[in-house]
Amino acid sequence: MPKIYLLDVTNRDGVQTARLGLSKLEKTMINIYLNEMGIFQSEFGFPTTRHEINYLKANLELAEIGVIKPMRLEGWIRAIPADVETTFRNVPDIDHLSLSISTSNQMIEGKFQGRKTHDDIIKDMTDAVDAARAAGAESIGVNAEDASRTDINYLVEFGLAGKEHGADRVRYCDTLGYDNPFTIYDNGRKMAEKIGLPIEVHCHNDLGMAVANSIAGAMGVIDGGQDTYINTTINGIGERAGNADLIAVILAAQKSKDIAQTYKLAGPIKLSMAYKLARFASYAFDVPIPINQPGVGSNAFAHESGIHADGVLKDPENYELYNFEELGRGETELVETGREICTGEYGGISGFSHVMGKLEVPVKFPDREKANEILELVRYANVESQKPLTEEQLLFIAKYPGIAKKLLTLTPLA
Ligand SMILES: [Zn+2]
Repeated sequence: MPKIYLLDVTNRDGVQTARLGLSKLEKTMINIYLNEMGIFQSEFGFPTTRHEINYLKANLELAEIGVIKPMRLEGWIRAIPADVETTFRNVPDIDHLSLSISTSNQMIEGKFQGRKTHDDIIKDMTDAVDAARAAGAESIGVNAEDASRTDINYLVEFGLAGKEHGADRVRYCDTLGYDNPFTIYDNGRKMAEKIGLPIEVHCHNDLGMAVANSIAGAMGVIDGGQDTYINTTINGIGERAGNADLIAVILAAQKSKDIAQTYKLAGPIKLSMAYKLARFASYAFDVPIPINQPGVGSNAFAHESGIHADGVLKDPENYELYNFEELGRGETELVETGREICTGEYGGISGFSHVMGKLEVPVKFPDREKANEILELVRYANVESQKPLTEEQLLFIAKYPGIAKKLLTLTPLA
C-alpha cells in the first residue's frame, strides 16, 4: 500500500513569507530537528540565491557527517535550465531538487502575459529536468504552481512529460488555497492514476482548509495507487494565511476517524519532538503560537468549564483526543527571576564561559584561545539572529565551529 511522506517546506515557503525570516543558524537547527522527528525531506532553501550558498553547503556537510541523516535536503528553483545551471555552479553537491513553474491559465495570461504558451511551459520544465538529470540530481520533483486553477487534462500532460524526462514526482500546488477536500481528492486521485508517479500535495490556508485539503489530497493520491508527499510548515507559517501545519497534519493522519487504518504515514515519526519544534520555530520567527493551535497551543490541553473539567478529571479521554505527553509536553519550565548572565554580540569571555558552564550539558574549553574562537562565532550568530541563542544553538556552535563559521559567512555580491 502506498504511504504518506512528509516534506517540510518551512525553510523555503516559511522564510519567503512577508515580514518573516530566519537566520542561517536557525534554518539549520530546524533541519536538525526535522531530521530528529523523522521527516522524510526538508526543502531547505534556494540554491540560486547567493546568500543561501554557504548555508546550503554547510547543511549538506552536516548530512555528509551524519548529523542530518537520513532526511533528504532538497533545493527549490524555477523549472528553467538556467536555474539548474546556477544551482550546480553554486552548490555542486546538491542531490535533490524541486523545479517549479506556473501552469494555470490565470498565470499564463496574468503573469507571463503572452510570453509563454502551455507548450513553452512544458518545454521549460522538461529542459530543466534534462539539465538536472545531466548534472547528476538524484531525485527531481516538478511543481505545477497554481495547479488547483489549472485544467486537469493539462496537469496530466505536464506530469506525463515530466515523467518521460525522468522526474520522480509531481507537486500539485494549491497555491492560493482555492481547493476544498473534495476537489483536491479528485485531482490527486486522477493525477496519480493517469500520470503514474507519486504526487505531492502543497496546500495553503487562505480558506482555512490547508490541513484538511492536504489529508484529502493525500487520500486521493493513495487511492489512485501512488505514494504521496504532504508539504508542511512548522506552525503553518507560510505565504499569506500560511501552509498546512506540520503537527496538525501528523495529528490528523494519525488520530482522525478511520484514516490511519488505510492511509499510513511513512515513518517512524517522533511526535514527541512536536512541542520543542513548534516552540523553537515560534521563537526563531518571532511569531507566537496561537493559544488554540492543535497539539501545541497553550489551551490544547486546558479545561475550565465545569462539565469538561469534571469529565477530564475522571478520564482524560472524555475530552481529549490525544495525550499531551505524546507531543513532548508536560515538563515544568524554570524561568530565572534573579540575576542572569547573558552572552551575545557584545559579550566578553568571562560571561560567555559562565553561560557555557551552566548549560544542561556544561561546556568547558581546553584553553582561552578555544573559548575565544567559539565566543567570536556566538557573537556573529547573535548579530545575525538579533535574539539570544538557545542552549542547543550554543552547543551546536561549540561542537561544529567550522560549520558554524560557514553558516555565518554571508558572501556579499561581487
Ligand atoms: Zn506555497
